[in-house]
Amino acid sequence: MLIGGRRVPSATGGEFDVMDPATESVIARVPIGGVEDVGAAVDAAEEALEPWASMSPRERGLILHRAAEMVRTCADDLAITLVREQGKPLEEAHGEMMGFANAMEFYASISGAIKGDLISLPGIGEAHVYREPLGVCAAIIPWNVPALIMAWKVGPALVTGNTLVLKPASTTPLTNLALAELLIKAGVPSGVINVVTGPGDTVGQALASHPGVAKISFTGDTATGRKVAEAAAPTFKAVTLELGGSDPAIVCDDVDIEKVASAVVKYRFYNCGQACTSLKRLYVMDTIADEFIASLERKVEALKMGNGMDPETDIGPLNNAPQKRQVIEQVRATLESDDGVLRVGGWNPEVPGHFYPPTLITEVDPTSRLLTEEVFGPVLPVVRVHGLEEAIGQANGTSYGLGSSIWTNDVDAIRMAREGLRSGMVWVNLHLRVPVEVPFGGVKASGLGREGSMDALMSHLRTKTVIHSR
Ligand code: NDP
Repeated sequence: MLIGGRRVPSATGGEFDVMDPATESVIARVPIGGVEDVGAAVDAAEEALEPWASMSPRERGLILHRAAEMVRTCADDLAITLVREQGKPLEEAHGEMMGFANAMEFYASISGAIKGDLISLPGIGEAHVYREPLGVCAAIIPWNVPALIMAWKVGPALVTGNTLVLKPASTTPLTNLALAELLIKAGVPSGVINVVTGPGDTVGQALASHPGVAKISFTGDTATGRKVAEAAAPTFKAVTLELGGSDPAIVCDDVDIEKVASAVVKYRFYNCGQACTSLKRLYVMDTIADEFIASLERKVEALKMGNGMDPETDIGPLNNAPQKRQVIEQVRATLESDDGVLRVGGWNPEVPGHFYPPTLITEVDPTSRLLTEEVFGPVLPVVRVHGLEEAIGQANGTSYGLGSSIWTNDVDAIRMAREGLRSGMVWVNLHLRVPVEVPFGGVKASGLGREGSMDALMSHLRTKTVIHSR
């Protein structure tokens, strides 16, 4: 844990194991935080608030900029820490560190946008609109992309003059702790960023209900997000929820089949399929479906599963045992009820580590769990469709609405998809890529509020309007 700028044990002195998901060996032990530790972290963040908030946005931005440079310098070591606790291939982990640095630089670069307004009010006088930080903010981080999601929460919270208490996922606390320490080395004052490790249902809930926390930003499962929002409601916290997704992709019949099949494989199997906005359901026009599926089959079969530290590895293990059990169960339920045809994968490797092979299932029935639930693992379900209207109808047929994509060069089809797809993001001939410059978030059960861009910056500020009479 990191409270008031120092590594500290928990109030009870207890610790839990952090495991390597590729070997299931223990790689570290970290404190089991509880309600008392959350209280101490919020106190430290409150104490640090006034001096941090009264620095100029530019000064705070310069510190974030320095942190970005330090992350770039230490990216190799940070990436190894991430691979060892999360499981992803080293190259992906390295890319995530670059994403962290980019986000810090982006929020440093727009620090000048934090300013007030002067509104002339004829007959009355004039209004001065001040923009102030919210206070102590809390961030709950998941295990799938822990560095990047931390950056999306830390960047806008800190540059706007808020202080922060962060709760990492219990399977990936090491990267978040290392990055928080690095921010402190870059000049973030003691107490401005604090990290409390420990279980979600105690540490996470204590943060969500703490009266001293002004805003809570959560990324994770939809059911957990609901609990966070409920705990935050009595104290009227601002809430940002980035929840699950079951992103559809629609492939039209004018595409370059080899090229688009490669892209589909890339955006489904990145991070072993464990991204909120992975391409999770594929709808292919019937006229090209046979050729497209044959190409997918070759490409999925060629993916190499292994330890993320091996440079040959395309796909690492799942992050944790419950995650693997859930994916096995979703595939089993589909195949047992004849709701799909297994083309590649679908077996359970009898090796240490939470490995599950890249899996391709076609002719999937709309009622299959692979289409109605979020599948957070390396499984690609494929459905044949007979026109764009049918494809958009099926694409919209879940409770989720995070991202979606259309693959075509037909401008009418693109317009129809843009207008018809009910999701916070729509990609055209792309999927999954979310640069920090754009607003990111979902509709329906995929969440509330936006991360990234000026939207995230503004959601960490409140206005105070002062009207002067003439
Ligand atoms: P969770 O939502 O449980 O975990 C995400 C974060 O929330 C972790 O830091 C976790 O802590 C914390 N948390 C857990 N319970 C609570 C609580 N009651 N109050 C506050 N915080 C809490 O996700 P899981 O790890 O259980 O994954 C389950 C499913 O969620 C996946 O299969 C996937 O479908 C989805 N998911 C989606 C993500 C996304 O990016 N949208 C990311 C991760 C998961 P701790 O680790 O200590 O439990």
